Amino acid sequence: MAIDEYSDAEFDFIKSTDKNPSNILPEKLTLASHLQFWCHPKVRCFTACCHNIKIILTPYDILVLRQRLGIQAHEFITEYAEPTYLEKTDMPGVQIKLVGEKNACPFVTPEGCTVYSDRPSACRYYPVGMADFHEGGANDAAEEKFFFLVKEPHCKGHEEPKHWTIGEWRADQGVDLRDAMNKEWLRLIMRRKSFGLQATLSEPAKRMFFMASTDLDTFRSFIFGSSFLATYEVDPETLAKIKEDDVALMLFSFKYLANTLFGAPGLTIKDEKLKSKVEEIRKRQDEAMLKAEQEYEELRAERDRMLREREEQGRRTE
Ligand code: SF4
Ligand code: SF4
Repeated sequence: MAIDEYSDAEFDFIKSTDKNPSNILPEKLTLASHLQFWCHPKVRCFTACCHNIKIILTPYDILVLRQRLGIQAHEFITEYAEPTYLEKTDMPGVQIKLVGEKNACPFVTPEGCTVYSDRPSACRYYPVGMADFHEGGANDAAEEKFFFLVKEPHCKGHEEPKHWTIGEWRADQGVDLRDAMNKEWLRLIMRRKSFGLQATLSEPAKRMFFMASTDLDTFRSFIFGSSFLATYEVDPETLAKIKEDDVALMLFSFKYLANTLFGAPGLTIKDEKLKSKVEEIRKRQDEAMLKAEQEYEELRAERDRMLREREEQGRRTE
């Protein structure tokens, strides 16, 4: 199968100034494949790729960046991000808000990236993309993972005499942790893509996806301040974790979204809630049945009245 026939959720995830598909080399790479590349402050194009770019932020990117900046999620989103749709889906997300005449990333300076050790996933992956392909986007579907190289004309790092395997380069960039943190979120997007746009996602569902993906503070208030805990079974250990630990909360939010948006297993509705829901449905059905019976009785009475009238008229004309 050619690279461009695969699901492209991850392809869009790669930081790129240019969406020209010819910049993606048509070769599937493995962790053992050779890579000649080096990015360093003395390279001619230093910081060129931090301008005129689209950088999608994953929930983990937002979490790490706003912790570094010491601000709340909503402040980060307002100041440094702008809304976008996660490409080829109707799922709302955010991208870095570029600033100034040069359309620069707000974190770039002539000396380089000011948030380098906490830079977003897309900046770490560049120029090696990963396709984690699940047929049909389901959890248990066949999985195939491979890498591919993005070679854009402005990026001179490909001319530098440094040689790695893809695996060595990825370890150097610290992408394994990012892979683990982003995996289930990316899978949600792939699932959405596999349904196609003819299957609509309701507006409340989109709002919930956006809230959980961008603002964990608000998602936490939703868990602990709404009827959520009266509806779902959550064991005390998980509850204690997600109360304090943002990463645990983020991973829990992915499980919640997979369950509510796509019916994936992982969350159980409480028995009493189920019973009350069944009771509610039964009550509604009983009420509907009663109403239908009343309407039927009214119609029958009307019909009988008309029949009697007709009989009387018949008798009078005899
Ligand atoms: S976050 Fe850093 S590496 Fe990424 S685009 Fe901005 S300045 Fe460049
Ligand atoms: S070498 Fe490539 S990745 Fe590094 S600064 Fe230049 S354009 Fe960006």
